[in-house]
Amino acid sequence: DGRLPCWNSFRDAPFEEPIQQALSGAGFTEPSPVQAQAWPAALSGKDVIGVAKTGSGKTLGFLLPVFHRISTKNLPLGATEAMTMLQKGRGLLVSPTRELAMQIHKECVKFGTPIGISATVLYGGANANAQIQELRKGGQIVVATPGRLCDLLDRKSCLTLNNCHFIILDEADRMLDMGFEPQLKQITTALPEKSSRQTLFFTATWPKAVRKVAAKFMRGEQETIEIFIGEGTANGELVANKSVKQTFIEAQDDMKDKILYDFLCGLDEKASVVIFANTKRRVDFVAKMFWQEGFTTCAVHGDKQQHERDTSLRKFVSKECAILVATDVAARGLDIKGVTHVVNFDMARDCDSYIHRIGRTGRAGEVGEAVTFWNPDYDKVCSPALVKIARDAGQEVPAFLQKYEK
Ligand code: ADP
Ligand code: MG
Repeated sequence: DGRLPCWNSFRDAPFEEPIQQALSGAGFTEPSPVQAQAWPAALSGKDVIGVAKTGSGKTLGFLLPVFHRISTKNLPLGATEAMTMLQKGRGLLVSPTRELAMQIHKECVKFGTPIGISATVLYGGANANAQIQELRKGGQIVVATPGRLCDLLDRKSCLTLNNCHFIILDEADRMLDMGFEPQLKQITTALPEKSSRQTLFFTATWPKAVRKVAAKFMRGEQETIEIFIGEGTANGELVANKSVKQTFIEAQDDMKDKILYDFLCGLDEKASVVIFANTKRRVDFVAKMFWQEGFTTCAVHGDKQQHERDTSLRKFVSKECAILVATDVAARGLDIKGVTHVVNFDMARDCDSYIHRIGRTGRAGEVGEAVTFWNPDYDKVCSPALVKIARDAGQEVPAFLQKYEK
């Protein structure tokens, strides 16, 4: 239904037994949030943009799906010439520094060897001829720094990238900071065309300059999945993104319309708002009422036809509609850029949903605002947990919620 699956257990992923064993052998118990989202995204065959902080497990997040697709010969859609070149099909991983390249190469050896995938690493400051010898052995994965990669591309017949059907750019923001934009340009021109490769683009930050480079590498909106890991985990518990300002308004159900109306009237034109309500009926009610008040609204919930949902999302993404009203169906996996506000017209039924909902804004380093209507008739039960979430994220807790503080 357009939502991305999230694999919370290693067994959700189709990785072969030796990989599964390598994961548990490493002492890992479950996929990190990046992995939980990047694996299904990358295995879908689409291009992937992953924005996540360092230390979030990105390396295996991009390596394992590529290994899987290479070892099962499940090449990118549209890679027709790849069919005749299966044996030569390769993955290229570009990484900003020597140390990182070596580290990634180590992970390749650890997790690739058990399924028969070998890797070569290319970096500056070491003997190029030895690296060329290694390349000739024809490992399926090449890990390289941009500088050395371009050096070897310049030496004709030494290295060709036209059989690389998987491209991974790691720490793309750092590569730009280090001045590697010309090298990245050279690399794009040496690669197969976008339609016959899959590109996975990882970065810790998401400023304009990085987006521009991403656009040059990726197949475009329809063929690209963006993953923003806004929420973190602490001791396995979800924690709210600190860059989302959380506010709470005490409101009985019959007051909510009026308060929401005033709130929406106070927003500026560029606001992009997701409003959550707890039932399909309430979603339709809110969407319709505010449409009649002159706001551009659209709605998504589980009773709508797929094409209706797609249309709603498209209108919201393109800013044709400023307000998307949704049930929790839309809370997870919904990655829409530029959501400025989340309104919980109804408080979420559980705190994980609350964190996921408010995580629709404040993505990738931007700030966002979440407003939650708190109804004393229904919402007392979850309040101690709610207060803790707000406190942990450094938020102010209003007087009417303070009495729930443990
Ligand atoms: P990033 O590239 O996002 O900075 P890394 O891929 O280098 O992060 O991973 C950071 C650390 O977490 C590494 O030591 C790695 O072995 C470890 N790690 C990766 N995946 C998991 C997991 N699922 N569970 C626990 N630790 C993991
Ligand atoms: Mg990394």
